[in-house]
Amino acid sequence: MRLTFLGAAGEVTGSQHLVESGELRVLLDCGLFQGRRGDADRKNRTFDCAPESLDGVILSHAHVDHCGNLPGLYRAGFRGPVFCSAATADVAEIMLRDSARIQEEDAKYLSKRLKGKHPPLDPLYTEEDVDAVVRRFEPLEFDEWHELSPVLSVRLSSAGHILGSAIVEMQVDGPGGRKRVVFSGDLGRRGMPLLNDPALVPGCDVLICESTYGDRVHPPPGDLKDALLRIVTETFDNGGRVVVPAFSLGRTQQIVYFLNELHLSGSLPDVPVFVDSPLANRLVSVYRRHQERLDADAQRLLRLDDDLFGFDRLHNVYSRQESAALNHRKGPLVVIAGSGMCEHGRVRHHLKHAVSDPHSTILIVGFQAPHTLGRRIVERQPRVKIFDRLYDLRAKVEIVNGLSAHADTPDFKWWFEGMASEGGIGRAFLVHGDPDASRALAPVLSDYCDEDVTIPEHGESFEV
Ligand SMILES: [Zn+2]
Repeated sequence: MRLTFLGAAGEVTGSQHLVESGELRVLLDCGLFQGRRGDADRKNRTFDCAPESLDGVILSHAHVDHCGNLPGLYRAGFRGPVFCSAATADVAEIMLRDSARIQEEDAKYLSKRLKGKHPPLDPLYTEEDVDAVVRRFEPLEFDEWHELSPVLSVRLSSAGHILGSAIVEMQVDGPGGRKRVVFSGDLGRRGMPLLNDPALVPGCDVLICESTYGDRVHPPPGDLKDALLRIVTETFDNGGRVVVPAFSLGRTQQIVYFLNELHLSGSLPDVPVFVDSPLANRLVSVYRRHQERLDADAQRLLRLDDDLFGFDRLHNVYSRQESAALNHRKGPLVVIAGSGMCEHGRVRHHLKHAVSDPHSTILIVGFQAPHTLGRRIVERQPRVKIFDRLYDLRAKVEIVNGLSAHADTPDFKWWFEGMASEGGIGRAFLVHGDPDASRALAPVLSDYCDEDVTIPEHGESFEV
C-alpha cells in the first residue's frame, strides 16, 4: 500500500491524503488550502492525485480545510463517489455553497482591480461545480462497516470535533495482504457541549493523525454557560449590549444552546438575542435535522424542549437591512455574529457601534490569530481600527477560553492509549499541524508505535 501526503503536511490547511493499493485509489479529504492568496490559489488549482482516476473520496468532516476543494476536484475531472456521514454531507453542502460564493465574489473583485492589466480571473469553482459534486455524496451510517469495494471497507466513528465529524477506519486488501488504516480526521475533545466524545478505536497497521494542538494543554472547558449568564446579566443591568464574534459552524450553535438552556431555566434576563449570520442560521437547521448525533445532555434536554436552538427572545437575522437596523435599536441586546476573528462579516458593524461604549461588552469565545481585529481586542489595545477608522476601546472585554474543538496533548495520549491497548499501532504519520506542534506530539505517539513516527512533507510518498 502506498500513502501520499498532498496537503495538510507540515501545515494545517488543505487536508488531502492519497491511499493506493493494487488498483485502488482513494483520497482522504479534499480540503482547501488557506493562507497567502497567491500561494493558496496555486496549490488549490493543482491536483497531484489524478482526479479522473480516483475510485472515490472519503471525507472526515465538513470544515472547508477538509472538504472545501471537492468542487475543484470535480472541475479537474473527478467523477467518483464522496463517502461521509449524513450530517457531514448536509453541513458540507452549506459550507461549499458559501465557499463558492466567496470564490466568485473574489474573482470578480480582483478582475475589476486588474482590469486592463490582466485577463479576467476564473473563480476556483462556482456554485454549479458545487451542485455537481454534492450529487456524488453517499452518506454512511456511523459505527458500522461498509464494504465500498471488494478490497475496501470503511467504518466511521465519532470524532467529537464538529457535527458529523468522523474518525475513518479502513480495511484495505492488497498485494501485501490486509492492512488496517486509521485516519483521525480532526480529533475533538472530551466533555465538550453538544458533541459526543471522540470514540476510542482499536489499533491499526497505519495511523494518520492530526496534530494541530499536539504541543498544548488546553485550559479545562470554561463554563461558558455560567459566564454567559453573568455577562449578559451585568451588561443588561448597565443598559449596554453584548457582542459575541463567533464562527458560524459550531461555536454559534454552542452559545445559542446555552442561552436557550438559561432561558428555559428562567435565569436569563428578558433581553433580545440576535443571531446575525445567515450561514449560522442555515447550519442550525442541520443541527435540528441530525439531533440524534448530539450528546447525552442534549438528548435529556430534548425531552423537555423540542427546539434546542430557539426561544421566543431569539431572532435570526437574514437581510442586511435587518442587520443594519440593530445598530439603531435602543436598549440592551445580545448579538452573535461572524466572523470569529472579527476580520470579515457583519460582526465588524456591531463592534463599531459597541466598542467605545463603556456599558457594552465584547465577549471573545475563540482563538484570535495574531494581527486580527479580534486579537487587538483581546490585547485590550486602547484604540482599534474598524473599517479604516480608529475607535477608542472602552467596552468591557470578556474572554472565555477552553472551547477549542481540537484535542490537546492529554486528549491525544488518551486516544493513543485506547489503540495501544487494543492491538497496538504499527506505523504512524503526523499531519495537520505546524511543524512545532507535530514535532512535540511525535515522541508522545512514538511510545505507542512499533516504528518511528513520520512527519511527512508535502508530496511525500511512503510504501507501508
Ligand atoms: Zn476541522
